Amino acid sequence: MIPEQHRERLGGCHPNLVWRIGCVINELEGKGIKMMVAPDGGLRTLRKQKALYALGRTKPGKIVTYADGVKVKSRHQSGRAADCCFRGPHPYGEEHPWNTYGETVEKWGLVWGGRWKSPDRPHAELKP
Ligand SMILES: [Zn+2]
Repeated sequence: MIPEQHRERLGGCHPNLVWRIGCVINELEGKGIKMMVAPDGGLRTLRKQKALYALGRTKPGKIVTYADGVKVKSRHQSGRAADCCFRGPHPYGEEHPWNTYGETVEKWGLVWGGRWKSPDRPHAELKP
């Protein structure tokens, strides 16, 4: 039910998360909303988390995470979080129905990062 590419990107993640994200993507697909698991949207090694943390700090780019991987760990490091984005030319564009995605994430029992003080709209994670 979850396309092969999504499965690959969620390799090593908690099976419960993989199942729920599959349900979210399928349900949205049924409404004509085309999403996918983002590149680097699944399990992250410490090395990967550190590399993402460097963006916008010691490396050029936009800040994409507040978790340095050591003092502050990301749920991606334990396979309990997934990031999704929209398929097509602007995966993170403002024009997309992010709230519909967030509501669907919550409907399937996950925490949506879009509600956080520093919103992280692609992010969904298992409840602690
Ligand atoms: Zn995330």
